Amino acid sequence: MSTAVLTIDLSAVASNWRHLNAQTGVETAAVVKADAYGLGMDRVAPALAEAGARQFFVAVAEEGAELREILGPGPEISIFSGHMDGDAPLIRDADLIPMINSVDQMVRHVEAMPAGKFGVQLDTGMNRLGLEDGEWQALRDIALEQSPTLILSHLACADEPTHEMNLQQLEQFRSMTAGVDAPLSLAATGGLLLGSEFHFDLTRPGIGLYGGLPHVDALPVVTLDIPVIQIRDVAAGETVGYANSWTAKTPARIATISAGYADGLIRAMGPNARLHADETPVPVVGRISMDLIGVDVTALDADPTSLQLIGPHQSVDTIAGFAGTIGYEILTSLGARYKREFLL
Ligand SMILES: *Cc1c(COP(=O)(O)O)cnc(C)c1O
Repeated sequence: MSTAVLTIDLSAVASNWRHLNAQTGVETAAVVKADAYGLGMDRVAPALAEAGARQFFVAVAEEGAELREILGPGPEISIFSGHMDGDAPLIRDADLIPMINSVDQMVRHVEAMPAGKFGVQLDTGMNRLGLEDGEWQALRDIALEQSPTLILSHLACADEPTHEMNLQQLEQFRSMTAGVDAPLSLAATGGLLLGSEFHFDLTRPGIGLYGGLPHVDALPVVTLDIPVIQIRDVAAGETVGYANSWTAKTPARIATISAGYADGLIRAMGPNARLHADETPVPVVGRISMDLIGVDVTALDADPTSLQLIGPHQSVDTIAGFAGTIGYEILTSLGARYKREFLL
């Protein structure tokens, strides 16, 4: 078999949720948008429900409907993108809660489902989603009369604890929600770790459940082992891969492994990436191809049958660093071709 194996440790996901939950005195939701950050919502969401999560967030109504099938009745499922045109049947049938982002969405929701549940997302400075202060002032009394499930906002710079934007947004959120008695939420993973004044009534971690920064104490969740398809010797002066971008300075032994940029191993990581054969690091050589990567295994005593890209020796954030990106992008790009194995 030449398919790479992505191992997802569901007990690590559950303990990361418990670990974050233990750092607050309030309710901890679970964000499982984008197929649980690429790991497989159908397995990850039930593991989180079993760990104790009762509130789930996804990006769009279609994801919410899929999640309802997975979880069954009971847990609350909220939609960050709110109520878009055409969403009403999904929202109604799957018992979803849109987080209303605009006056238009509010009107659409109330017209389609007069007694339907909803939350409200406020913009406190990120300028991505949510009602601006003026719109909120206009809508506030009408919205609050209908007992929204949640009033939330999102931090732009929470992964930088000393960034002045965090306190600015906290202040703005407090001022926009003064006197409101609906449940409030401001923090995702980064905000949760900023401290209790950011916790309000509910936190909404995503990346921290899946082993990514800024949750530095997270247990690793993902392991990626890639089979070796072929091994060859190259002489000094020979080149490896497209565009002859790597030249052997001395005789070398090169393993070709079975994964590439079509599996989310983005080309940009090529010149800096390494894998591991047990404890020994081995560097990528030449360009990353669509389905194949060359690795210099000269340092090994024996030919490996597979090499590890993500695991105990290097985290998702380490390999993100090879490509100048973030763990979120690596996780959500992990390809459909991997064989996913789940540890309980
Ligand atoms: C994605 C998202 C989250 C989760 O963020 P993490 O940084 O992954 O913890 C929480 N809230 C909103 C509005 C989001 O879009």
